[in-house]
Amino acid sequence: MQITDVRAVQLTRRLDRPQRNSREARSERTFTFVLVETDAGLTGLGDAYGDQALMPTIIERRLRPMAFGLDPCDVAMLWRRLFAARAFWETGGSVLCGISAIEVACWDIRGQAEGVGVCELLGGAKRTWIDAYASDLHWEEPARMAETAARFVEKGFRCLKTHLGAPGEWDRDLERVAAIRRAIGPDAGFMIDVNTVFEPAEALRFGQALVPFHPFWYEEPVWPVDAAGHAWLRAQLPCKIATGENLYLAQGFEPLWTHQACDYVMPDILRCGGLEQTRRICEKALDHDIIPSPHNFSSGVGLAATLHLMAALPATQWLEFDPTGTAIYEELFVEPLQVEAGRVRVPSTPGLGVRLTQAIINQNRS
Ligand SMILES: [Mg+2]
Repeated sequence: MQITDVRAVQLTRRLDRPQRNSREARSERTFTFVLVETDAGLTGLGDAYGDQALMPTIIERRLRPMAFGLDPCDVAMLWRRLFAARAFWETGGSVLCGISAIEVACWDIRGQAEGVGVCELLGGAKRTWIDAYASDLHWEEPARMAETAARFVEKGFRCLKTHLGAPGEWDRDLERVAAIRRAIGPDAGFMIDVNTVFEPAEALRFGQALVPFHPFWYEEPVWPVDAAGHAWLRAQLPCKIATGENLYLAQGFEPLWTHQACDYVMPDILRCGGLEQTRRICEKALDHDIIPSPHNFSSGVGLAATLHLMAALPATQWLEFDPTGTAIYEELFVEPLQVEAGRVRVPSTPGLGVRLTQAIINQNRS
């Protein structure tokens, strides 16, 4: 089988109200889907989760010419060819996101060709339902955030995540935390993500202020590449530290192991290099007694890939699931996505189990 084309389809969903965190305030969500076409008539679907101003150019002008004629079922060879071609200039960032998207689409093609789910290609499904947490709550009035959080718990989620870390707004942030904790009760797991906003000393003070609210984990408190800073916080604070969504390639995660920098590691399949790199990162994490919990806040393609990986690697914990209704998400699934009592079922159709239909394109054109 040979790749005959690679196309980028950029779609946008406008939001009723902005999604704000310490890094950005989004009024819309944009997705660049990647369609890898073959001479066998099979098409694989990926999601290029990088800088959305760059992704169509990276996919169509940089990676597309290199993918022509390659065998999509030899995923390892294809990955090496794409990476070697670009690595002289770029070993991370949006180029890696583009390579990740094509890699994921090729696993989709291989699964379709063999008539099996991608989880079977990754070693076989060890489970069919994955425990999920609701992600995310974004900055709003504390009462409104608490109301949304309570709704997530009513839907059956036992864990949920909020963004915090507003510069100069610590009192307001702590009001948010208090309101959410009151709304969800003492037993729900409560992840707190500050999106790399603090210097270590500040992250420590903020973390100490969070302790009375019993966070399940404290996510990306400092710069993503500051493994020593994460390790220092981990030693000082009684709560678990999570990080990793902003790191690339298995090699990029090495400092986390060396420094014992976190309790949970969060590689993102669509960023770190694809399914194979994520599998290596998860296995390496386990060697160091760190729990892999893949990051996943993109489209239904990322959700499907993460479900298949987590099905094949039962030591991974806590699927990140987006119940905000703001992503192009459940409508991508070939068979209706099953979400029950805070668990999500692994798709059982061949490949990833997702398709980009013309109706979805028409509804979400940029
Ligand atoms: Mg995060």
